[in-house]
Amino acid sequence: MTWRASVVTLFPDMLPGPLGLSLAGRARAAGVWSLDTVNLRDFAPDKHRTVDDTPFGGGSGMVLRPDIVDAALAGCDDGRPLVCLTPRGAPFTQAHAARFAASPGLVLLCGRYEGVDQRVIEARDMLELSIGDYVLSGGELAALVVLDATIRLLPGVMGAADSATEESFTDALLEYPHYTRPADWQGRRVPDVLLSGHHEAVRAWRQAQSENITRARRPDLWASRAYQSPAAVGCQPGAAALPNSDERILR
Ligand code: SAH
Repeated sequence: MTWRASVVTLFPDMLPGPLGLSLAGRARAAGVWSLDTVNLRDFAPDKHRTVDDTPFGGGSGMVLRPDIVDAALAGCDDGRPLVCLTPRGAPFTQAHAARFAASPGLVLLCGRYEGVDQRVIEARDMLELSIGDYVLSGGELAALVVLDATIRLLPGVMGAADSATEESFTDALLEYPHYTRPADWQGRRVPDVLLSGHHEAVRAWRQAQSENITRARRPDLWASRAYQSPAAVGCQPGAAALPNSDERILR
């Protein structure tokens, strides 16, 4: 069955954008997923096609009207997860992407200007998601990010079934580094273990690399893990100073 994305936006021409190319583009052409855009402006009743108004309480900018957003959503709010993209939302993660990929599709509301009247967000029980701690000028790029991360998890989109389960974040770990030919490039040699043909040694090296890089770069992710394997312990100078390293729960 085709996975269905609906994007409610004032700028439908921003879609599918990069999702028309490469993996996502081919998957769409093959009918793995479909996209429809809903232009908010089509739901404006007046002849100027006004969709926004000034904020109650004063302040700068304009706010998207709840009645118009609600009318635009009425045609696509059919039980699929309904997401409002906003910097005030919960951080979008790989776990959301996996959950969305397992549902029949997704409805995404893109804000513009100062954002969307809060009442329609509540009335439609939208899931508010942010793609990071910065402010974009509209939700369209955020919608593309959410869709890209989700679509590549749909069955049949990525070539190797394994790559999705081994990647960064799947196990709350960043991925190990990758190397390809030439084995010696400008005097930089690929780590010997990767040339050894010893699968168990390669696996253990990659696991230790993942754990060390996660501990060094993302102590927040590292601390969120339910256990920390002995493989990485003591492999990284200074690692012991990072939070939680003394509270290891060994498997
Ligand atoms: N005044 C708002 C920002 C509005 S930016 C605030 O301070 O929270 C305009 C629109 O861009 C938002 O309605 C939202 O849809 C989108 N947007 C901006 N930054 C985003 C982010 N980090 N994640 C998801 N959507 C974002």
